[in-house]
Amino acid sequence: MSSNKRILSGMRSTSPKLHIGNYEGALHNWVDLQNDGFDLFCMVADLHALTTMFDDPKAVSINAREVAKDYVAAGIDPNRSVIFIQSHVKEHSELHLLLSMMTPLGWLERVPTYKEKQQDLGGAEREPYGLLGYPVLQTADILLYRPHGVPVGRDQAAHLEIGNDIGRRFNKLTGSEVFSEYKYMISEDELRAKLPGLDMRKMSKSYGNCIYLSDTPEDTAKQIQSAFTTPTKMRKSDPGIPEGCAVCQYLRIYSPNWEQQWAEDVAGERGCSQNKKELTEILNEYLRPMRERRAALSDSDVEDILRDGAKRAQVVAGETMDAVRSAMGLF
Ligand code: ATP
Ligand code: MG
Repeated sequence: MSSNKRILSGMRSTSPKLHIGNYEGALHNWVDLQNDGFDLFCMVADLHALTTMFDDPKAVSINAREVAKDYVAAGIDPNRSVIFIQSHVKEHSELHLLLSMMTPLGWLERVPTYKEKQQDLGGAEREPYGLLGYPVLQTADILLYRPHGVPVGRDQAAHLEIGNDIGRRFNKLTGSEVFSEYKYMISEDELRAKLPGLDMRKMSKSYGNCIYLSDTPEDTAKQIQSAFTTPTKMRKSDPGIPEGCAVCQYLRIYSPNWEQQWAEDVAGERGCSQNKKELTEILNEYLRPMRERRAALSDSDVEDILRDGAKRAQVVAGETMDAVRSAMGLF
């Protein structure tokens, strides 16, 4: 496999279900890249999930199988692309350790998502050491495959920048050229690159503000019912503010008539319940093929896919580790 066609990306197994933000921001692009002939490595990031779910490693492992099912449901073809669980390929842990010796602490302390998560966890006594090293592990994940590019949502941009910095630092310190720069592949559509959740914060598995790919149509209808709309629009005739309304944001992505729907919303010619009803129908229809593909997958199919994926990933990761050890003189 030639390295300039390789693509690496992943999702944390913090929940058994992926959401439409994961799909629009990242997974959709993976499928397009696969169909354009790139060699995709689709990782389920269970070790990354442990940075915040350290108290429930069993759930992380069960979730990982479910995330892999969502990859296949979304259109990742295990015959063409490699689907694997991060912890099954031990090279990720090894490269993480070696890179952690070369990464200045200041670079990690400056990462904005680190500060946010640190606050969520409630101070240094509760914060795991691994949380600070999250971008180093992510760098190891990427550099092991020496990829052409990494397709992710907007929130990952700062982490990806550090990855190229660490790769350059490795080359400089070892006088080698083991790593070359990879591209960030972020959706050009800003709404898709950072899809708002039902409460208008970023849609995130850990915020519980999501519409999930694998929910039933009834669950999706319920979630949409609970979505944040324009608080000052009490009656149908009150003007809406679609820019601040989660339902209108989703219509913009999924409805071919969204411009007209927005104009009617602002003019007080349609109510929130009509928007919700129309969105529910369109979205359930959009998700139907994924849900059908998922239902056809058995647990043992997924185990086979993951076993085969780990083997194929390990071949590439092992080659990179040989180059890394040789550059560092670790024989
Ligand atoms: P967690 O809350 O556990 O961090 P998450 O929902 O943020 O979960 P991740 O596993 O961190 O999901 O991210 C997987 C991929 O999905 C990444 O490429 C990330 O950039 C992308 N992504 C996550 N949330 C969104 C979103 N709301 N809009 C667009 N892309 C997203
Ligand atoms: Mg996240």
